[in-house]
Amino acid sequence: MNELNTTDILHHLGENDFPFGAVNPPIYQTSIFCYKNFQDFKKAISDEPNNYIYSRGNNPTVNLLEEKIAKLEHGERAKLVSSGISAITNSILSFLKSGDHIVCVKDSYSWTKNLLEKYLPRFGVTHTYVEGTNTQEIIDAVKENTKIIYLESPTTFTFKLQNLKEISDFAKSKNIKTIIDNTWATPIYQNPIDYGIDIVVHSASKYLGGNSDVVAGIIIGKEQDIRHIFQTEFQNIGTVPDPFMAWLILRGIRTLHIRLEKHYENALKIMNFLKQHPKIENVLYPFDPDFPQYELAKKQMKGGSGLMSFKLKTNKIEKVIEFTNRINYFKRAVSWGGYESLIMPYAVTTDNISQELLPLIRIHVGLEDPQLLINDLDEALKII
Ligand SMILES: *Cc1c(COP(=O)(O)O)cnc(C)c1O
Repeated sequence: MNELNTTDILHHLGENDFPFGAVNPPIYQTSIFCYKNFQDFKKAISDEPNNYIYSRGNNPTVNLLEEKIAKLEHGERAKLVSSGISAITNSILSFLKSGDHIVCVKDSYSWTKNLLEKYLPRFGVTHTYVEGTNTQEIIDAVKENTKIIYLESPTTFTFKLQNLKEISDFAKSKNIKTIIDNTWATPIYQNPIDYGIDIVVHSASKYLGGNSDVVAGIIIGKEQDIRHIFQTEFQNIGTVPDPFMAWLILRGIRTLHIRLEKHYENALKIMNFLKQHPKIENVLYPFDPDFPQYELAKKQMKGGSGLMSFKLKTNKIEKVIEFTNRINYFKRAVSWGGYESLIMPYAVTTDNISQELLPLIRIHVGLEDPQLLINDLDEALKII
């Protein structure tokens, strides 16, 4: 499975026979696919996951991207969907029924938690949150009716890691599915399937797209699991990826490995600047040698991306507001993973914030000149 390298996958896999020798894949902007006769038509319908019938199921532009991401993640198969949260929702729902229980990392993506807290209770599904940094805590949270252990490593505001090998070994022994949100590390820096995790999900709106111009998600796993998701939630809920969006992501991933290297390099420079700054309480970045889970980060991931958090040395919301407004090159926005630097204070997400979270700021370090970004932060920190 691993004989292909990143260049083979990103630039060549599945790209040798485009019509007219085109170097770029066609955008198959079609809803339906036609058959020559009754027999072929019937045969295709009997196995929709492996045939082109209707673009709510498969589409050649979409499938080309899926093939590449599946290989990059060391999985057998992938399914592209119309958002990251749809990738999460489809994979969770597909393996649950009324009365089941799910163990989930407490600091996971906000809409993942919304699914567990507001949506699943309507169908009699319960959950237990865990911090996730200690495997025993996860083992202790599992009940008779636990069907899924849901991970996000690292979490993307508080940067908490889970030990993927320990958790998947335990889950296998209990027949529990493991699902992980791998958006932060990308398949370039972390391949959870190598540690025995069953299903990997990504928000492709982040690094896979890489240009802040698409919303998409992808699910990767074993043939059997992806086929199951295809035939249950995917076809019914219909969060269909369109071929142009797949084409944009195909364009995005050609530079994924190069962009990630630069995000990592820039992030380390910004991290070092922030760490020594007198107005900064602490920095949260898994590849900081002082990070509490640094050893695990190095073991599970080959590198880090551009997203990190830090705490300002203040307990006043006015200071957080002024700092945020002073910043020039970091744009004030949600999301991350594009070429550009972004800033998001935790305080924009809620009115009743705890004293602990009030000074927490998340930044996405983009592909700009790092010195420019450092000067920008330095200038804004003067108001603290
Ligand atoms: C953005 C994000 C999602 C959701 O992805 P969308 O494409 O916005 O639906 C899920 N998980 C993480 C970690 C994210 O950052």
